[in-house]
Amino acid sequence: MKDIVMTAQTTLANLDLTSSELTGGTLAVHSPIDGSLLAEVHETPVSEMDAVFARSKAAFKAWRVVPAPRRGELIRLLGEELRAAKDDLGALVSWEAGKITSEGLGEVQEMIDICDFAVGLSRQLYGLTIASERPGHRMMETWHPAGPVGVISAFNFPVAVWSWNAAIALVCGDPVIWKPSEKSPLTAMACQKIFERALARFGDAPNNLLQTLIGGAALGGALVASEDVPVISATGSTRMGRAVAPIVAQRFGKCILELGGNNAMIVGPSADLEMAVRAIVFSAVGTAGQRCTTLRRLIVHNSIRSELVSRLKKAYAGLPIGNPLTEGTLIGPLVDEASGTAMTAALEAAKAEGGTVSGGDRVTEGVPAGVYMQPAIVEMPGQTATVKTETFAPILYVMGYDTFDDALELQNDVPQGLSSCVFTLNMREAEQFLTAAGSDCGIANVNIGPSGAEIGGAFGGEKETGGGRESGSDAWKAYMRRQTNTVNYSAELPLAQGVKFDI
Ligand code: NAD
Repeated sequence: MKDIVMTAQTTLANLDLTSSELTGGTLAVHSPIDGSLLAEVHETPVSEMDAVFARSKAAFKAWRVVPAPRRGELIRLLGEELRAAKDDLGALVSWEAGKITSEGLGEVQEMIDICDFAVGLSRQLYGLTIASERPGHRMMETWHPAGPVGVISAFNFPVAVWSWNAAIALVCGDPVIWKPSEKSPLTAMACQKIFERALARFGDAPNNLLQTLIGGAALGGALVASEDVPVISATGSTRMGRAVAPIVAQRFGKCILELGGNNAMIVGPSADLEMAVRAIVFSAVGTAGQRCTTLRRLIVHNSIRSELVSRLKKAYAGLPIGNPLTEGTLIGPLVDEASGTAMTAALEAAKAEGGTVSGGDRVTEGVPAGVYMQPAIVEMPGQTATVKTETFAPILYVMGYDTFDDALELQNDVPQGLSSCVFTLNMREAEQFLTAAGSDCGIANVNIGPSGAEIGGAFGGEKETGGGRESGSDAWKAYMRRQTNTVNYSAELPLAQGVKFDI
C-alpha cells in the first residue's frame, strides 16, 4: 500500500506539517488501513507541563477581557479555514483513524457546524435578571470565562470532539490545552496548524490560546492534576474516566466526562422494518462499530424477531469491507490488533454464555494489511455480562421481549447511559420511551438510530457514560463560571429575610 502512504504525505504537507515535525520522534503513528508507518512525531515532555500551564494562564488573562462577539470572530475564521482544509483534513482522519472517506469528511463538517453554532453563541452568553426582595436593589446572574480548559480526546473522533470543546471554550473566553489520543496525533497537529491560520487572520489574539500536547496517558494525567486548569473535558473509555474524575474532584475542578456507551434499539411489533433495518445496519457497523454511539444491543419484539434477524443477516452479507479510501467501502478496519483481539474474545465469551454468533471472522482476502473484521450478529438468550460490557467493535447482540415494560427494563439494565432509540409506529410506546419512566440515557430517539447526533443538541450520557454534556443547547455553561450579583441603588441598607441588625 505504498501509494496510500505517499498520498498521506502529500496531505500532511498540504496541512503545513513539516518533515522535521513528522520524523525522528518517539511516537510512531501507523495507519490502521495497512499498518504502514505514517510518521514518528515528537512527544511533549511531562517536564514541560508547568510552562504549558503558565502560557495558558497568561493567554487567559488577555482573552477573558476580549468582548465575546470579537472572540466569536476568531471561531468564524476557524470555520472558514476548516472549510478550505476539509478535503485534506478529512482524508487524514481516514488515514489515521481508518474511517471511510465520507465519514472522515463528515467529521470535518461537524467541526464546521460547531464553529457556526459557536459564532452565534458568542452573542448569546445570556445571564438572568432576578426579582430582588429588597427595595432599590437589582439582582442578576452573569457568566464569566472559567480559565484554561483541558481537553482529552479519544482516537475514534480525533478532530470533532476537540472542536466541540474548543469552539465553545474559546468563545466563552477560555484558552484550550488539548491532549489528543496517542493513536491520532497527526490530525491534532493539523488542527493546531489550521487554528494558527485563523489566528494569523484574526490579528491581535494573545499567544497560546491553543496548545496541543503529543503523548499518552501520563501527559493526560499531568493535565488532569493541574490546579491551573479549572475545567477538564475528557472523552474516552469509562476506565479512563474512573482514573480522571477523582483527581479533578480532589482539587475541586470541574469535569465534563464523555465516556463509553452501550446503546440499544427497541423494535416494536408495529415498526417500519424497512427503516429499522437501514438504521440498524448504519448504526451497528458504521465506523466499524467504533463510535461511542454505535448500536450494540437490539431488543426486538418476539413476534418479529426472526424476520428482522434474517433481514439483517441478508444485509450484512452484502456489506463492502475493505480499504476505507476506496469508493463504495462501508466498513474499514479496526484501529489496531488489540481491538481485533478484544472483538474475538467478546464473541467467545458470548458463545460461552449461550449466544449464537453469525459473522465476526477476520477478513484477510482482498483487503490491505490492517485488522478487518466481519461485523457480527449475536443472538443472546438474555442480557449477560458480556452484553453489558462495551466492546469497541462491530458486534450487535440481539435479545427478544414480550412486553414494552420488559423491553424498557432491558434497555436500562446496563451500566452505561449514552444513546438509545425505539422504532415503533405506536404513539404510546414512542411517548413512553421519552418519559421519566422510559429510557435512562442522555440521548433518546424515536424512529432514528442511536448514532449520528446533530451538534445543535447537548451531547452526552448518564451513569458510566459520565454525565457530561458537550456541543449545542446550553452545554456552554460548563465552560464558564456563574456569578450572582446584587446592586443596591437606594440610600438604605435593608437586609434580606427581614433580619434587623441596627448599629
Ligand atoms: P481511551 O480511554 O483509551 O483514551 C482516551 C484518551 O484518554 C486518550 O487521549 C488517552 O491518552 C487518555 N487517557 C487514558 N488514560 C488516562 C489517564 N489515566 N489520565 C488522563 N488521560 C488518560 O479511549 P479510546 O480507546 O481512545 O476511545 C474509545 C473509548 O472512548 C470508547 O469507550 C468510546 O465509547 C469512548 N468515547 C466516548 C465518547 C462520548 O462522547 N461519550 C466519544 C468518543 C469515544
